[in-house]
Amino acid sequence: MTLTSHAVAGAAVATLAPQNPILAFAFGFLSHYLLDAFPHGHYPLRSLIPSPKDKLKEDMTWGWNFVIDLFKMGADFLLGLGLAYLLFAAPNKSGMLAIMLGALAGTLPDPLHFVYWKLRQEPFISLSKFHLSIAATKDFDGDTKKTLLVEISAIVASILFAKLISL
Ligand SMILES: [Zn+2]
Repeated sequence: MTLTSHAVAGAAVATLAPQNPILAFAFGFLSHYLLDAFPHGHYPLRSLIPSPKDKLKEDMTWGWNFVIDLFKMGADFLLGLGLAYLLFAAPNKSGMLAIMLGALAGTLPDPLHFVYWKLRQEPFISLSKFHLSIAATKDFDGDTKKTLLVEISAIVASILFAKLISL
């Protein structure tokens, strides 16, 4: 899923622990895997070397294509952090810290996957294996409508979740 949806979901679950930054971070981190378990699409990345048969063998190449991808992913990430900030504004500093940590942790497994690609060593191997094992096998790549619908649903569900637990 997009980093935007992951950041919003991470922030939403962090509202469960507004006074506990460590727990907020952990909740956000775990929310990533939960969200990836739903079938979803991906935006195309130019530097990605796909390996459909064995996803652990995927990689990304350095170069201009990677720089372009980095801008794309950076914009996605910043949009997520901005939305998390706007949607779940907490009344105090510790609450806000928890929410932003949740948002950050919600996106973290994806950059950690990138670290795995580049280092191919533990603990990143195990983390990436877990990431891939829990991710939905069906994907909506190439189906823009379904991809967008899943992303919007994830964001709306996150907002509703945070609203429900604030009652
Ligand atoms: Zn992921």
